[in-house]
Amino acid sequence: MRRTASLSLAGLSTIALAGSLLVQGPGATPAAADSGPPIAKLVRIQVPSTADVQRLEAAGFDVAHDVSSGKDGAIEATVVLDGATDVSALTARGAKVLSTLDGPTRAEVNAQRKGVATPLTAAEKAALAPKSGGSSKSSGKPGGSRPPVVSPKGTLTVLRSDTWTTEGTRMVSLEVRSKAGPTDTVTATTDTGQTLRLSAFVDRGVYLYHRFDEPQMVDGGATKVTVKSADGTSVTAPLQPWTSGGTTAYPAGFQWGFTDDGYVDATQTDAVIEKLAADRPDLAEVIDLPNPTLGYPEGSRYKAPASYPRGPLTVKAIRIGKHRDGSRTGVLMYSQEHAREWVTSLVAIETAQRLIRNADTDALTGSLLENLDIFIIPQVNPDGSAYSLYDDPIQRNNLNDSGCERPDGNLTNRGVNINRNFSVGSLFDGYVGATFTCGSNFAGKAELSEPESRNETYLTKTHPNIKFAMNTHSYGGYFMWSPASYRPDRTTLPRPSLGTENYFFAASEKILSEVREYRDTVVWPGQTGTVVDVLYSAAGNSGDETYYGGVNEPTSGKPKVYAWDFEVGLPRWDKATSSWQDTGAFWPEFRDEGFSQAMEFANGWYGIFEVAQQYELDKTAPTSTPNVDGRGSYAGPVDVLWQTSEPATIYYTTDGSRPTLSSPTVQQDGVRGGALPVTLTAKRTVLQWFSVDEKGNIEGGYDPSGTSSKGLNREVIKIR
Ligand SMILES: [Zn+2]
Repeated sequence: MRRTASLSLAGLSTIALAGSLLVQGPGATPAAADSGPPIAKLVRIQVPSTADVQRLEAAGFDVAHDVSSGKDGAIEATVVLDGATDVSALTARGAKVLSTLDGPTRAEVNAQRKGVATPLTAAEKAALAPKSGGSSKSSGKPGGSRPPVVSPKGTLTVLRSDTWTTEGTRMVSLEVRSKAGPTDTVTATTDTGQTLRLSAFVDRGVYLYHRFDEPQMVDGGATKVTVKSADGTSVTAPLQPWTSGGTTAYPAGFQWGFTDDGYVDATQTDAVIEKLAADRPDLAEVIDLPNPTLGYPEGSRYKAPASYPRGPLTVKAIRIGKHRDGSRTGVLMYSQEHAREWVTSLVAIETAQRLIRNADTDALTGSLLENLDIFIIPQVNPDGSAYSLYDDPIQRNNLNDSGCERPDGNLTNRGVNINRNFSVGSLFDGYVGATFTCGSNFAGKAELSEPESRNETYLTKTHPNIKFAMNTHSYGGYFMWSPASYRPDRTTLPRPSLGTENYFFAASEKILSEVREYRDTVVWPGQTGTVVDVLYSAAGNSGDETYYGGVNEPTSGKPKVYAWDFEVGLPRWDKATSSWQDTGAFWPEFRDEGFSQAMEFANGWYGIFEVAQQYELDKTAPTSTPNVDGRGSYAGPVDVLWQTSEPATIYYTTDGSRPTLSSPTVQQDGVRGGALPVTLTAKRTVLQWFSVDEKGNIEGGYDPSGTSSKGLNREVIKIR
């Protein structure tokens, strides 16, 4: 497995795990023995830096999404090799092989397809239904930013200190920035006396922060940690709950578990959405996207059944809502840009069916349909996914092999990586994380050269009401937003403001709690955030395209669309071995694991709808409270910080002038940091401010472009 726990505290040795990917982590039984070679090897490697990962990609190696910082700043990644390729191909390039996992055999993979797989019975599904347990549900619109936790001289800043319990085990995740940089030795000691060591996270030579390479077990009674630098400086931070706890049963009568019979090609996802639209034309319609794909090829070497269409194919989307006229907040959800990420189109058709089949009976579903205009593309890349399903499961790209042709017509690792073919922060603009050469990260011949990419931008361009989007991938368990690309010197696309970043984290609380409610799986806080801060750079990805509204060199980090990326397939905690285990990589055994992944992320998609609905209905202005007031006077320079009632941006002036939307704003204290204080040093300062939430509601009814001071906050701060 890719993750092995560091268990020094428990006194256990590190456990190296190996076996078939069809062995499903906690409690599952191994798949039946099967003859024939594995379709792929998943090789977990360690290299000194992310630049080495990109060099491997440029050399044609197929690197999966789950890149992470391992021990002491080294980078760990998973390389997908053809089952027949020897790992010496990697060691020859300086990679250290940590573990090798054989993928399933061809016969095992074929047995997971719809029409071949044995559908789950009603009783089996009932056994997999979530049951209520743990604490209460997430409260909706959570509070504003957390106050910064900084050591006296600013040597150490605790960026995040999160805790949760999963599979009965309490976990902790810490992120700490040290002024001394990556060479500092940073430790954390809980109030129960447990000590943990953090590793430096360095990306392309830039130190970001110290963290664990994966969440660590922590004593059940721990409530805070004292973080210490090598020079003895320390600071204490409370452990904060990460996502609301436990599982939650679906409401009585809620229809779910539609995708119970195996992995599907695009004709099968199309059949589902056509039926939904035919049954409920009042609620849904199918949209034929305007750019046909190249198509699945003719010829006897290609193994899709005769019933699968050859030649150019129309990609289809379903539009769902009671008011599909642009008057409601639009939400664009799309799956399987990457062909081999089979679970992701199940998430799409499961969610579409939940929305339609519960429309008249479930109160939440009914209100989502009233308030939102939902667009779902179950399969962005149907040609590639058919090739992955029927010919070679490791296929990631589309089937456009122009300039990459092999004499025998083998299309494996040919084609264009759709999630590198977009126009914002692209390889062609000088951003990192795609290649000009054929391979799994091939950016194509030009920005938006592929019909699959242009179909996505068609929807966002023709429906300006789209304000939220989700790009669902597999695997590794991530929840991310923009920016997702940087230049070789690690200059990123513009970052969100502090208010927007806080909004994203608040939405994470809601959305990831919904994922958790299915079977208590938790997306780690260390895998939640901007792509560049938790993962890597992916030049020309569709999340950035949507977030920045297709603006090629964006100058603002203000989102045109709140655009997210999911990676389904969360690592799960195995109590028996006290380690995190992967759950089947791209091809989880359907009945044991693939079905459940689809259910938990359909929950997550509902969570996104709930966040979007809250946005649609939000007419409540934020309020703000500073940590200072004008009564009396202060002894020295004053650091002003505000608490807000919800994620919001604070605009302020210190010269007595009326603040406007062009005035200074409270800034973020670096990567993943909290609010930077506004420091006042004058003997007398007239501090005036107002706050604005993400919807644009303004505190106190203040009019920033007017002349009245009605609703404006004001304090006169005096220093002795
Ligand atoms: Zn992907």
